[in-house]
Amino acid sequence: MSTTNVKPVGVAILEKNGLDVDALIAQLTKNASVEFTAYYYFTNLRMHCVGVEGEGIKGVIEDARMEDLSHFESCIERIYQLGGKLPNHAHEFVNMSGCEFLEIPEPATDLQAILEKCLKAEQGAIANWNQVCNMTFGKDPVTYDLAKDLLAEEIEHEAWFLELLHGRPSGHMRRRYPGESPHTRKHSRALDR
Ligand code: ZN
Ligand code: FE
Repeated sequence: MSTTNVKPVGVAILEKNGLDVDALIAQLTKNASVEFTAYYYFTNLRMHCVGVEGEGIKGVIEDARMEDLSHFESCIERIYQLGGKLPNHAHEFVNMSGCEFLEIPEPATDLQAILEKCLKAEQGAIANWNQVCNMTFGKDPVTYDLAKDLLAEEIEHEAWFLELLHGRPSGHMRRRYPGESPHTRKHSRALDR
C-alpha cells in the first residue's frame, strides 16, 4: 500500500503555520542520530572510568547515557508523524551524527579527557535542541513540547559535567535510578521505567 500521497491534516496545519516541515524532519533525524550515537560512545567512555576517582564519574556518565537513549526514543514517533523516516542502514544513521570526537581518548582511561568529551557532547546537544525549539516555536506545539523537554535534560547534563570538570556547582541531586529522565520520560514510554 502506497502512503506517498497521504497528507495528514496534522502536517498540513504546520505548513499553514509557516513551518518548513522538510527542514524540521532533517534536523530531528540528525538530532536522533546524535542521541543514538552519543548513547553508544558514552557506553564505551563510561567503561574506561577506572579507579577510585573513576567510580563516581561512572555513575554520572551512566545517568547521562541512559537519558540519551531516552532522547533517541523520544524522537522516533514525531519523525514518522511528520512524514520522515530513519535511514535503512545503521552506518548511514551513525555517520549523520558527526560524533567521532567521542571515541575513547589516548590513553583510554584519561578521566579529564573523558569528561571533556562528555561536556562537548552535551553542549552540542543543547545547540541541536535549541535549534528545534527555534524552528517550531509558535508553529508546531507538539514538536516544541518535545524539544524543550529534551533541551531541559541536556542543560542538566551539561551542568553535571561542568561541576565535575570545573567545580561549578550544578545544584543537582543524583537521579533516583539511571534513565529516570524526569523531563523526557513521557516522550519515551517504550523504555517503560
Ligand atoms: Zn541527549
Ligand atoms: Fe545528554
